[in-house]
Amino acid sequence: MHDDLKAELEQRRQQGLYRQRLITQSAQGVHPRINGREVLSFCSNDYLGLANHPALKQAMIDAIQTYGVGSGSAHLVNGHSQLHHDCEQRLAEFTGRDRALLFSTGYMANLAITSALVGRNDFILQDKLNHASLIDAARVVDAKFLRFRHLDLDQLQQQLAASNEQKPAARRLVMTDAVFSMDGDKADIQGLAQLCREYGGWLMIDDAHGFGVLGEHGAGLCEEQGLDQQQVPILMATLGKAVGVSGAFVAGSEELIETLVQQARSYIYTTASPPSLAAAVLRSIEIIEDEAWRREKLQQLIAYFRQQMLALECQLLPSDTAIQPIVIGDNQQTLDISRQLLEQGIHVTAIRPPTVAPGSARLRITLSAAHETTDIDRLVKALAGLFRQD
Ligand SMILES: *Cc1c(COP(=O)(O)O)cnc(C)c1O
Repeated sequence: MHDDLKAELEQRRQQGLYRQRLITQSAQGVHPRINGREVLSFCSNDYLGLANHPALKQAMIDAIQTYGVGSGSAHLVNGHSQLHHDCEQRLAEFTGRDRALLFSTGYMANLAITSALVGRNDFILQDKLNHASLIDAARVVDAKFLRFRHLDLDQLQQQLAASNEQKPAARRLVMTDAVFSMDGDKADIQGLAQLCREYGGWLMIDDAHGFGVLGEHGAGLCEEQGLDQQQVPILMATLGKAVGVSGAFVAGSEELIETLVQQARSYIYTTASPPSLAAAVLRSIEIIEDEAWRREKLQQLIAYFRQQMLALECQLLPSDTAIQPIVIGDNQQTLDISRQLLEQGIHVTAIRPPTVAPGSARLRITLSAAHETTDIDRLVKALAGLFRQD
């Protein structure tokens, strides 16, 4: 066994695909301590700078004093605390949905959606650049899995029409990232909703990177594009990114949520997350709603970054979100640039296949409301130096 694995690992290393963990020795923030050294970080998904917010920490500490640490069991046994319950109601209200259901991770929430809603006679239709958890969610069920070219609504329309002809009575679950996690661009939810209405599709949106950041109050891409529960019946978002805590939720109608509770194995057969996490989420939602300046500052930093990068003549992707990747192409070259940046005290992760398509390895730069323009100046200057060298 070990020789086998060793050969495989070696091959991976030679292809520039080896993955390695760094060790963070401080709280999240734009200046974390990594491998014994303080760095300027551009790779966290803590877009609003809330992961180490004093009010969230206090909410969690207070909740631990009352509720202890562990939840003890699954939600359907006795792990569903009042804090979980309050948090679900708050999330439903915030997103303008009837109900919301908490999950321990976004990965599990996505598994829950497919496994509870579709089966052998049904269809799942997904954008090709969807997050790995959505792809895996499609693979755990027997439904026919179709993928359409990135943002290509014409191809989706053809697939919907063909599936309708083939099996008029089948369910058609259309799933998409709201903000694409490795590209930073946004799905056209209006267009998707329109197609789903025409062809009887069930639209599911994964708003992992929009929730907290987009929309006037931070309720995400649905708020930004003005889409209600009628148009987007299945809304999923995570709580470990802009919200700064951990976990995820699905929001929608009473019938949707009850179906998940009754049928979703990744909901039923797992221990509820610690109640204190729900307390921190509740506090975080308050801050997200009240402190619009965080979203505004982030938008200003995004515009500033793109403007500063113009001088470098390097192709940025068409993204107006906090995810600002620079596609390098070659795996090893991308790793080298990332390593050289780290040597200069700047942390930007190299993203390689299979997370992105072969030949499109990239630096995934993420911005946060906790950055300052001087941080961006430092990054752009370092990039300019490295690109000139190449
Ligand atoms: C991060 C992410 C997930 C997974 O969420 P976790 O809570 O980290 O498991 C799902 N979908 C998208 C688009 C993501 O970026």
